Amino acid sequence: MSAQTATSQFRNALVARRDELIALTQALIRIPTLNPPGHHYGDICDFLAERLRPRGFECQLLRAAGTPGDCADYPRWNLIARHHGGGLPTSERSGFGALANADCVHFNSHIDVVEVGAGWTVDPFGGDLVNDRIYGRGSCDMKGGLAASIIACEAFIDTFPDYTGAIEISATGDEESGGYGGVAWLAEQGWFDSQRVQHIIIPEPLNKDRVCLGHRGVWWAEIETHGRIAHGSMPFLGDCAVRHMSAVINAMEETLFPDLKTRHTAMPVVPVEARQSTLNINSVHGGQAQPPDDFTGWPSAVVPDSCRMIIDRRFLIEEDLDSVKSDMRALLESVKDSRDGFRYTITDMHEVIPSMTSRDAPVVTTVSAAIEQVLGKTPDYVVSPGTYDQKHIDRIGHMKNCIAYGPGILELAHQPDEYVGVQDMLDSAEVMGLSLLSLLHN
Ligand SMILES: [Zn+2]
Repeated sequence: MSAQTATSQFRNALVARRDELIALTQALIRIPTLNPPGHHYGDICDFLAERLRPRGFECQLLRAAGTPGDCADYPRWNLIARHHGGGLPTSERSGFGALANADCVHFNSHIDVVEVGAGWTVDPFGGDLVNDRIYGRGSCDMKGGLAASIIACEAFIDTFPDYTGAIEISATGDEESGGYGGVAWLAEQGWFDSQRVQHIIIPEPLNKDRVCLGHRGVWWAEIETHGRIAHGSMPFLGDCAVRHMSAVINAMEETLFPDLKTRHTAMPVVPVEARQSTLNINSVHGGQAQPPDDFTGWPSAVVPDSCRMIIDRRFLIEEDLDSVKSDMRALLESVKDSRDGFRYTITDMHEVIPSMTSRDAPVVTTVSAAIEQVLGKTPDYVVSPGTYDQKHIDRIGHMKNCIAYGPGILELAHQPDEYVGVQDMLDSAEVMGLSLLSLLHN
């Protein structure tokens, strides 16, 4: 069979599945997998396993027991499904182990969606199809990508049953809350080991003509300033922790924020405003705790003895985490030098090292060529301003041949009236299928 024949056979098989793609996307949206707290993970994994088993996939449902949020009411279920090509020796056509002379291509999608929020004009879990768009929470991020990858794999398998290699589809939880009950846990169990899996595509909504190579780094920490409690009518007898924190914010405004603006990266981050180091002050809490909304009393008169700030620092591949942290310590020490009674503590909360897959990596060159073939243009290479599950595949799985590629407009993620375009799903499914063709079809 010529390459051209194979390509057009696959395209026909895909186009014939258009209605099926729509129905699958709608069905996924109608399972409200809200996170937090982690609703219906088991239901969506069961639904996917019931679909994939009759199509020749072996399925394993895996509960990330004991990970954050996992409990009897909200178990952290994940699904791994695997299909073997007829071109493999019979002995290799079952199980989830490493293949001797062929590759496994893995599509990883998260099943969780963020809260609905205000401002919707359609049912967020209705999956309405209007003007070739499917609406709903998670349609863009990322049930449309999950559906597109499933339909791409099914059309590929039906068209080329004797392909050489294996295809895996994973549906994992908790991406929106860090991925600890999903990809991180699976990576710790060896599911993303480079002996077992050779190419990974995460169909996050990065737009159908872009290849996402990775993400910036993250450091979250809590800074606490300490004071001394006293009567509010005699603040001079105490020491106000909130005033100490305001000195920290002033120092950030005067030195740190201007400095971060000058630290540019060669990473192709989108949007371009994120091609620099950034710092977000996530929250500041000082003094007495907020009373419940229905409390009608007054606060008492005290000087706050504690003020806590959570910082969200995003850093670049050109920076290292140690210097990011020591910059913050130096700032706090400079405040200490200039301010009587200033005492602070700083506590690490969470960190992610930047990740960027090489432009020469096989999955990058393969998907890029497929984009050119389907869309007639060279792809844009981008890096995400925030992180996604690639961080765990890189750091825990030590698997470097990984990208995010999928349908949907990134800016629609987490918004009201989120949607995914049917044609975008079909186009990216074609890119995914042609990538399978070049990676697994001999
Ligand atoms: Zn996502």
